Amino acid sequence: MLKLPLCPYCGARFFYREIRKARHGTNGVCPHCGKTFRVYGRAGKMILYLISAVLLVGLNFFLISIPAMNLLFLLSVTALGVAAVRLLVPYTVRYGPL
Ligand SMILES: [Zn+2]
Repeated sequence: MLKLPLCPYCGARFFYREIRKARHGTNGVCPHCGKTFRVYGRAGKMILYLISAVLLVGLNFFLISIPAMNLLFLLSVTALGVAAVRLLVPYTVRYGPL
């Protein structure tokens, strides 16, 4: 499920940075073949957020059972988890033909 999108016409690869700028429901132009494609990604993003929310809550429940645990550490772990998930979002983007 987690892979970077390819051009639906010529199969060209895109840079992570370009994909991060792409927004669901908008159109993009392939720099290789010049054709216009549609950007999809809401469903994959929802699934990614759902799975990671469950994992992070589970991780927090596990960490809070450790006696020496403090809130600052829990917050740091959660913030790191959210940051990691945000980095994965471009991997849920899909390009389709118009
Ligand atoms: Zn192309």
